[in-house]
Amino acid sequence: MSERVRRLRQLIDESQVDCLLVTGRENVRYLSGFTGSSGTLLIGAAVAQLLTDARYTTQARSEAPGFEIVNVENSWVELAAELLPDRTCRVVGFESEHVTHQQFLRMQETLSMVELKPLKNLVEGLRQVKDEEEVREIRWAVGLVDRAFSWFLDRVQPGRKERDLALELEFHLRRQGAEEMAFDTILASGARSALPHGRPSDKVLEAGDLVLLDCGVVHKGYCSDFSRTVLVGSDPEPWQNEIYRVVLAAQEAGIGMIRAGAKAADVDARVRAVIEEHGFGDYFGHSTGHGLGVQVHEAPRMSRFSEETLQAGMVVTVEPGIYLPDHGGVRIEDVVVVREDGAEVLTGTPKDRLLCV
Ligand code: ZN
Repeated sequence: MSERVRRLRQLIDESQVDCLLVTGRENVRYLSGFTGSSGTLLIGAAVAQLLTDARYTTQARSEAPGFEIVNVENSWVELAAELLPDRTCRVVGFESEHVTHQQFLRMQETLSMVELKPLKNLVEGLRQVKDEEEVREIRWAVGLVDRAFSWFLDRVQPGRKERDLALELEFHLRRQGAEEMAFDTILASGARSALPHGRPSDKVLEAGDLVLLDCGVVHKGYCSDFSRTVLVGSDPEPWQNEIYRVVLAAQEAGIGMIRAGAKAADVDARVRAVIEEHGFGDYFGHSTGHGLGVQVHEAPRMSRFSEETLQAGMVVTVEPGIYLPDHGGVRIEDVVVVREDGAEVLTGTPKDRLLCV
C-alpha cells in the first residue's frame, strides 16, 4: 500500500472513525492515482476501495492498482450502503468540504446503519508536504512556463491585444506539453495592471504600459504558478521603477525568511513590512502566497491569518504586488520549496529589474 494511504490510515485512526469516504476529486487522485471525473474512495484499516462507474472501471484498474475497484451502478452512496455492513466500519468519516448538501441528505438516509462523522482537511493536510516525486512534477510545470515566458516576451509589442497575447501563450504552453492551464490566465496592461486579477481584454498594448502576466500549467496533475511584470517600450517612468523595486525587495525578503520552522504569518508580515516602509501598504491587498500542488491554491496559506508553521517539503508561492489605481501594478511571483535550511526557488525567470520589451 502506498505511503500516502498508510499516513491517511494513521489520521483516520486518530480521528476516531473506522473508515473514511473520500469524495474530493483532487484527494481521490492524490491517494489513488485515479484521474477520472467520478470516483469515491472508501478507506479503512483493512479496506482500500475505489467506487466508480462503467465509464471508468478499466481506467481505474490501471491507474489505481492499490485499490479494489467496485462498479457503481446507481449511486456511490447506495453502493457504500451495500459495502459497509460487511465491514467493521461503524463510524464513517466523510469530507464535509467535498459533499453537497443533497449528497449529505442521501447519505443520512441510505447509510443510516452507521454513524456519519464530518471531517475536514485530513487529506489536504497530508498534501501539504510533498515528496521528491511531487517536487519533480512541479519543477517541470514551473520550467515549462519559464521557457514559454521567453517566447512570450518577443510577442509583447505595442498594438497587440491582451486577449490575443494570452490566447497565443496558452496555445504555445499546450503545444509544449501542458496538460491544461492551472487557472484562467491573468494578463492586464496599462492602468488595468492595477487589477490584481485582470482578465485579458480587448485592450491594445501601448508604449509605456506595464504588463502583468500571471499564469500556470498542470503537468501530471501538478500545478505551477508564475507572475512577472514587464514594460512595453524602453522608457519606464520613475514610479514604475519604484514600485517594481519595492515589490522585488519585499518578495526577496519573504523568500529569505522561508525555511522549515518559520511561521507562514511571519513571512507575510516581513513582506508587508517592506511594502509599508515605502509607503505602499494600502496598495497591497492580497496575501503573500499560497501552497501549490494538485491544486493551484492549497494549504498552507501564506497570509497574516495563517497559523501554519512551514515544514520541509511544502511548496509555496511568494507573490507580493503593488497596485496603484488608474496607474498600474506590479506583481512578482516565484514558486519555492521549503527546505530545512532555506527556500529552494524553482522559478528560473530573472527578475532583478523591470524588463523593458
Ligand atoms: Zn499564485
